[in-house]
Amino acid sequence: MIEIRLYNTLTHRVEPLVPVHPGEVRMYTCGPTVYSYAHIGNFRTFVFFDILRRFLRSQGYRLMHVMNVTDVDDRIVAHAAAAGVNIDEYTAKYITAFLEDMRTLNLEPPEILPRATEHIEDMVALIEQLTKKSLTYESGGSVYYRIAKFPHYGQLSRIDVQGMQVGARVDMDRYEKDDVRDFALWKAPKPGEHFWETRIGPGRPGWHVECSAMAMKYLGDTLDIHAGGVDLVFPHHENEIAQSEAASGHPFAKIWLHSEYLLVEGQKMSKSLGNFYTLRDLFAKGHKPSTIRFLLLSVPYRRQLNFTEEGLVQARSSVERLRNFVDRLRTPKIPVGSNPETQKRIEKAECDFDAALADDLNTAVALAAVFDLARDINTAMDREALVQQDALRAIAAMEKFDVVLAVLVDDDAEKLRTLGFGAAQLRLEAAQVEALIAERTEAKRRRDFQRADAIRQQLADSGILLEDTKDGSVRWKYK
Ligand code: AMP
Ligand code: ZN
Repeated sequence: MIEIRLYNTLTHRVEPLVPVHPGEVRMYTCGPTVYSYAHIGNFRTFVFFDILRRFLRSQGYRLMHVMNVTDVDDRIVAHAAAAGVNIDEYTAKYITAFLEDMRTLNLEPPEILPRATEHIEDMVALIEQLTKKSLTYESGGSVYYRIAKFPHYGQLSRIDVQGMQVGARVDMDRYEKDDVRDFALWKAPKPGEHFWETRIGPGRPGWHVECSAMAMKYLGDTLDIHAGGVDLVFPHHENEIAQSEAASGHPFAKIWLHSEYLLVEGQKMSKSLGNFYTLRDLFAKGHKPSTIRFLLLSVPYRRQLNFTEEGLVQARSSVERLRNFVDRLRTPKIPVGSNPETQKRIEKAECDFDAALADDLNTAVALAAVFDLARDINTAMDREALVQQDALRAIAAMEKFDVVLAVLVDDDAEKLRTLGFGAAQLRLEAAQVEALIAERTEAKRRRDFQRADAIRQQLADSGILLEDTKDGSVRWKYK
């Protein structure tokens, strides 16, 4: 097995991944808060999780990956109360949309996708454990974590604990960085808001305790990897460590990974700034799922990614280049034979690809290895120097890359149709397209170029791309 090295926020170093259970990686990633549709900033982080899990699997690891769905928090409770529905009714639509979005972006489902509301008992038990160790106090029906009692508080974010107003309480799940106080493990119910009757009283869990309880329930006391967006380092992950380590007495996660922001004009894409796009917004503008996936994965996760129209255009053409390359490799006219030099060239690309990803998931370098190979093999095909065994080997390499990249299969139109986009463009069935192409070929044969051009235009207007090949046949695909 190749050594995989990852940047650990906890130690500020790139470290080899050494799982607790050899051959198996147990990881927890913080999932969506389903109070609204996820935006593509969120999906930058979810695509990063997906690259991580696909790469680990491609290297032969078994995975036990848990990603929570936060279906109770301040925002959900407030929105549901405002809408006059219960929280399950409120979140159902967004959970469905999130799962749909995951499929659309080819995000593999984690092994376990637990919902917070289905684990209230585990959270209560964890709070009881902390109370037994005198780490909590009650105030106004809420239960707070006393951070002064946890000497390692601040180790992940390197926050200055001295400057904190210890003993002051904060009720919000998310708060400003300078507003650092003891945080709520359990929140007393407010009039009109959803609550559970439990052994520790009526109320609902704080956001941080949800993740600690679900992570340890499914993965044990010590996880190999815990990951999330960089905005979760403090306070969310700091608080998870305080809860979990105080309760179990063991280190909570060996490696902490954090992905950087997707930016719009220099600012974090976020709901509160209003500078966000959902996947649906981009599909409505005619962008494809594969374009968005490619764009989000193309910049290594620890670098900020500026979201621009130009970036989308480039991503789309990059995906097309890769797909066209594989199409070309599949043409039957390649002569029989095998060339050891070409085989070596392909092997090198495979090694470079894996080495780049093993180096803290450097997707930019991994993609460079793929595009360099495509360029070299395309050049060989231009010279008619590529032979069949090599073409097959190159196809196999591309398929291997695609286990991680997941952009080669041309199913964008189908996905968009399922989601209700592009229906007008996709009116033509394959049989109709074939008939029009036959008619166009016939028109050209009669030298009726006006008619031939009109048909090409009609097909283009219906979102169909034609490619006239050298041997006179016509290939086509949905744009
Ligand atoms: P939330 O649904 O708000 O809990 O966020 C889900 C995930 O998206 C978290 O891991 C966040 O860190 C991440 N996230 C939120 N905004 C951005 C952004 N602009 N760029 C990258 N990740 C983000
Ligand atoms: Zn979390």
